[in-house]
Amino acid sequence: MTATTVLNADLHCHSLVSDGTLAPEALAARAKVNGVELWALTDHDEIAGQQRARDAALALGLPWLSGVEVSVSFAGTTVHIVGLGFDVDDPEFVAGLAATRGGREQRARDIAAGLARVGIEGAYEGALCYVSNPELISRTHFARFLVETGHCHDTHEVFRKFLTEGKPGFVAHRWASLGDAVRWITAAGGAAVIAHPGRYKFTPTEEYALFTEFIAHGGRAVEVVTGSHTPAEYAKYADMAIEFDLLASRGSDFHDPDESRTDLGALPWLPGKLAPVWEAIEARVQRA
Ligand code: AMP
Ligand code: MN
Ligand code: MN
Ligand code: MN
Repeated sequence: MTATTVLNADLHCHSLVSDGTLAPEALAARAKVNGVELWALTDHDEIAGQQRARDAALALGLPWLSGVEVSVSFAGTTVHIVGLGFDVDDPEFVAGLAATRGGREQRARDIAAGLARVGIEGAYEGALCYVSNPELISRTHFARFLVETGHCHDTHEVFRKFLTEGKPGFVAHRWASLGDAVRWITAAGGAAVIAHPGRYKFTPTEEYALFTEFIAHGGRAVEVVTGSHTPAEYAKYADMAIEFDLLASRGSDFHDPDESRTDLGALPWLPGKLAPVWEAIEARVQRA
């Protein structure tokens, strides 16, 4: 029998409904071509692309799970919680996501004001040129504008110089609480997943608190193999999944063919000792 970890599941990526550059249909097609066997689109704080993703995936014979990546404030940092296999019509979750998106407009104006103070004018209007969903203006759209206008060579440099803590375009922001995000996802029938834990600059104590509080709220899984992790982090979070009795997830976090380091489906397998999240939510997978 083949281990269930050997499945080309890609359960984390973004479309132009948030800060990706491809349409849900184009992502489904790219996933299929790249050999993905189970796919979820996980736009930031937004599920407006889910129906399109589902229809496109099923038309291609690509098994599909609903998905989203919720922005959360925890221990003074932004943490991302992926939801998988939830009911996309759940009213409380839909309202919670709308509330989470709600602060982005003012935050974007504040980011632009910060950039104007260092001589970069018109960043709000500039970023908007890259936005497809008016409710979802993100730092990524500012980054694209700053690259296009020659302030930086690539989006990573923009984040480093302008958009992260202590830099002129950084704006502290209050997102959803960890408990709310996990409960919304869980009450809607889905599994909550800690996204790319290796990206947070937590102390071991803070990281332990994130994992224990996440589990206490009903969280089920952690991303182990993601485009955001190094091989050393695959090993670290595989061990932590076992230590905390969490299921494991796998996803590229693909945003754009040029910007993203990892393409859809182009990831190592989950380590065989882990229990994949897709096994636990098999009943939520939709097939043609
Ligand atoms: P926001 O939700 O507006 O805070 O934007 C967060 C998004 O910015 C993330 O989902 C990534 O797509 C992108 N991002 C964050 N940090 C970086 C980085 N260092 N380099 C490139 N993109 C980044
Ligand atoms: Mn993003
Ligand atoms: Mn993320
Ligand atoms: Mn993401």
